[in-house]
Amino acid sequence: MRADFDAVVIGAGLGGLVAANYLTKEGLRILLLEQHSLPGGCCSSFTRESFIFDSGAHSLGSCRSGGEFGNIFKDLKLNGTSGLIIRKAIPSDIVITRDFTLTVRETLNDNVIEFSHFFPEERQGIRRFFFEVYSCDVRARSSLLTYVKKYQDRTFRQMLDEYFRDERLKQVLCVFLGNVGLPSTHVSALRAIVMLKEFILDGGYYVVGGMHRLVERLAADVVKRGGVLKYQTKVTKILVQNGGVDGIILDSGEQVRAKVVISGASPSQTFGAMLGSEVTKTTFKAVEKLQARIRGLMPSVSAVVAYLGVKRNTDERILGRTIWYMPSYDADQVYLDVFAGTPDLACRTFLAAFPSRFDESLAPTGYECVNLFALAPYVNEAFWKSTKEQLLTTLLDRASHIIQDLRNRLVIQEMATPVTIRRYSLNDNGAMYGLASTLSQLHSHIMPQRTVIPGLYLASHWATVGTGQGGTPMAAYAGRHAAKLALSYLEKVRGIHISV
Ligand SMILES: Cc1cc2nc3c(=O)[nH]c(=O)nc-3n(C[C@H](O)[C@H](O)[C@H](O)COP(=O)(O)OP(=O)(O)OC[C@H]3O[C@@H](n4cnc5c(N)ncnc54)[C@H](O)[C@@H]3O)c2cc1C
Repeated sequence: MRADFDAVVIGAGLGGLVAANYLTKEGLRILLLEQHSLPGGCCSSFTRESFIFDSGAHSLGSCRSGGEFGNIFKDLKLNGTSGLIIRKAIPSDIVITRDFTLTVRETLNDNVIEFSHFFPEERQGIRRFFFEVYSCDVRARSSLLTYVKKYQDRTFRQMLDEYFRDERLKQVLCVFLGNVGLPSTHVSALRAIVMLKEFILDGGYYVVGGMHRLVERLAADVVKRGGVLKYQTKVTKILVQNGGVDGIILDSGEQVRAKVVISGASPSQTFGAMLGSEVTKTTFKAVEKLQARIRGLMPSVSAVVAYLGVKRNTDERILGRTIWYMPSYDADQVYLDVFAGTPDLACRTFLAAFPSRFDESLAPTGYECVNLFALAPYVNEAFWKSTKEQLLTTLLDRASHIIQDLRNRLVIQEMATPVTIRRYSLNDNGAMYGLASTLSQLHSHIMPQRTVIPGLYLASHWATVGTGQGGTPMAAYAGRHAAKLALSYLEKVRGIHISV
């Protein structure tokens, strides 16, 4: 019997959107289903009274030519066409401590100069450290294998201890682990190196007009190439027949037949409620084993995000696009507490993003948008309901240290908690980076993109790709790779001829 579609893609997050784009580009009949009314999942924007706020991801990494995103932009002809403009904020990341303001530079030499200025005793280690990070090329197999071999079983803390003595310098480097959601004692050194290289040293890219422009463009291109995209449509079941994927069932009860399903949903959804009794005897054992493994895996932490509309202070100096505020050199302890499930109610360390200082179209004239991010554990709904207002007050007080007279200039204040993030993305516990990139959860066999069900692939930040998971470049990579796996499956196993 002829299937309705060649492939169904579950979820229009970055992973699902990129996968659907690569598949429609090859002329395949694709159905992309999203439970929310908008595309993007954790990478989107919303409007409040003429302010455009990025709801989750606010910055992209590895957009350089040859970088992960750079290649995807090129393959999908995204950059600079049809109004999609990606720019790089220079400088992007700034760290403010009680002693100094440090600016992350673009080149190795400039970073050695900048970091050595504040830590002259550590100059040799700083040079060696940055050389090691800059030399990691995840796209070159030999380089990647060398780094995997050297660092996959080491924590970032072990790496820092090897290069540096000054704990304050270690904390400055640890603060960027907010991009991974783990303390240095738990994050794999490999994940930290990849994050520093791809997201801090080649970071600060933003989409002019807001992140929604990127995901809306990806969504529009799926449709333009003949794909079908449905919002407010939740997938509840994945059908399996003769040991392979046979389609999906929607929350309306409607069935759709397809030879391939690419899931951008979390593994607990994909292999839990969605597969359930649909699995045949042959794959039952494998799925049961996988479900048991999933129960033992740790999701990454979540976040609280304050969205602020602020009257612009023309005297304020533009430092960078994002400021990491860590007056007491305690980022690692904060991340450890959050990872252990204790919210940082004092907001000791947080990130402030100033997107409209680089893109004025995001805010009305004379105003600016500010996003404040702090890592947070999920806890439960009741906790965030009762704590949200107080936490926002504390966050605003703390932010007043880096934004003059903030309270008197505020015109909009809104806050998302882990509960909000879970509601819009359906990520377990509002996880912002999929599975936590700990040493034990790094290996690609933990949650491989090619699953135990033939024809079922994962395309999201939940997939383990070997260098750590989470973040927009990783989700996009997972989308591209899932499409590749699906194409070869359709070509070889089901006899579909791919023309391009
Ligand atoms: C607050 C916050 C800030 C962040 N900041 C950054 C940043 O600055 N830079 C960066 O690189 N990364 C950042 N990240 C991480 C990054 O946004 C994510 O890792 C990435 O966007 C994940 O994309 P994804 O496609 O894997 O998953 P998601 O974005 O979670 O998308 C999954 C999609 O699937 C849909 N879905 C789920 N289940 C179903 C179902 N059953 N049926 C239909 N649809 C379904 C969801 O609605 C969602 O749209 C941030 C994340 C958060 C939460």
